[in-house]
Amino acid sequence: MSSETRQKYEVVIGIECHVQLATKSKLFCACDNDSREVEPNTHVCPVCLGLPGALPVLNKRAVELALRLGQALNATYPDNYHTKFDRKNYFYPDLPKGYQITQFDEPIIGAGYVEFPLDGRTVRIGVTRAHLEGDAGKSSHPDGADYSLVDLNRAETPLVEIVSEPDMRSAAEAKGYAQELYNIVRYAGVSEANLYYGNMRFDVNVSVRLVGAKEFGTRTETKNLNSFRAIERAVEYEIDRQIELVEAGERVRQETRGWNDAKQTTYAMRSKEDADEYRYFPEPDLPPLIITRAMVEAQANELGLLPAEVRAELAAAGMPAKESEVLVADPVAARLWHDVVSAHPEHARFALNWLVGDRVKLEEDKGALAESDISALTVALVAQMVQDSKLSSSNAKVLLAALWSDDRGGMEVAKELGLLQESNVDELARIVDEVIAEQAQAVADYTNGNQRALGALVGQVMKKTQGKGNPPLINQLLHDRLDA
Ligand SMILES: [Zn+2]
Repeated sequence: MSSETRQKYEVVIGIECHVQLATKSKLFCACDNDSREVEPNTHVCPVCLGLPGALPVLNKRAVELALRLGQALNATYPDNYHTKFDRKNYFYPDLPKGYQITQFDEPIIGAGYVEFPLDGRTVRIGVTRAHLEGDAGKSSHPDGADYSLVDLNRAETPLVEIVSEPDMRSAAEAKGYAQELYNIVRYAGVSEANLYYGNMRFDVNVSVRLVGAKEFGTRTETKNLNSFRAIERAVEYEIDRQIELVEAGERVRQETRGWNDAKQTTYAMRSKEDADEYRYFPEPDLPPLIITRAMVEAQANELGLLPAEVRAELAAAGMPAKESEVLVADPVAARLWHDVVSAHPEHARFALNWLVGDRVKLEEDKGALAESDISALTVALVAQMVQDSKLSSSNAKVLLAALWSDDRGGMEVAKELGLLQESNVDELARIVDEVIAEQAQAVADYTNGNQRALGALVGQVMKKTQGKGNPPLINQLLHDRLDA
């Protein structure tokens, strides 16, 4: 498609994101919420199997985590508000009850927004609402078989569905929004957020219209995307497909589409239902819920650092944008950086460089940072040793690697490993004099104006100190003797 054709159209994108909450049990029964490595249909009971007469009981923890997530989405909460559950009626083999318990007109979380940086600007995407619902089971279709299998371990696991406003205007914005939700959910600690296991799944609504048009175009919904790359590609594919249809004088059909990752294309699955076809009605087996101010505030107190706060701190400390975003995408490392700079702002750069650099390699060998003995104090102390010229930058990395699984003090371990720089001036001066006596040629070169000869002399001194000499001090001592 020519870029002139492309530029005639405006793209409108909204995203629905399903987040599986990290509760111990399912939304309405005591079955285990985590079925990653268990046999199919073992985490089930009469409630989540939808057997007649079994009654749901709402999981309090799911309500708490939903309220916490709402805070992270900048939602505002009315005082003592009312929320309720509704039945969404449809027939599908993985939905044993014939309806899903969800929330229709009184969701637990109202309007909010998400902000994230993209190409040097801040993008703000409105959040329409977020509601609680039970997940469906999972169907699978064995290769070559003329039957399907249904696993109900996932049935009634607790989800929050976050519905965005149709505020995104490009594939890059859609990807950025999804990535920021991923950040927020992990910082808030409300989900395992494992994309591979489908803990977060994205449905992407895309439509196109001529620039300046008031009406939205007909939208398609591409369902169950679980990688950021797939979101970006699916949006790009839909934009091109829809513009080509409109340009050819055909109409875009309102439909639900799937994503074929192997072919990198979307494909039609079924025509999209309108809300009234689901015959929503209030769930008679669950009483409405009053969300008190105290319940909201309790979760506000549980909510720690958020990605937007870390970004603001990184910008205030003058840290480079690229490394900053790498740090923000890693909640454990970001929290450590935040703790270092809260007490020692002068070590912001050292902590950032180590956290986005050497630390990543160490995690590959030694396991997760969260499980290590590294604390904010450890990082600050090592940074201070470098600043005080007690430790070279390269030995700082060696020391932090040693302290990864050693909870003793940095100085003690540095001494034991012989990492400390030689800062004993008399001892260094003696070695410098020795080197000057031995390296007559280099000394002559330097005094005849060859600045590089000084480097060779520093190198000789370092060699005699087995690398523990303090380079700035050695430089100073050589200048004192040779520049006179
Ligand atoms: Zn159950």
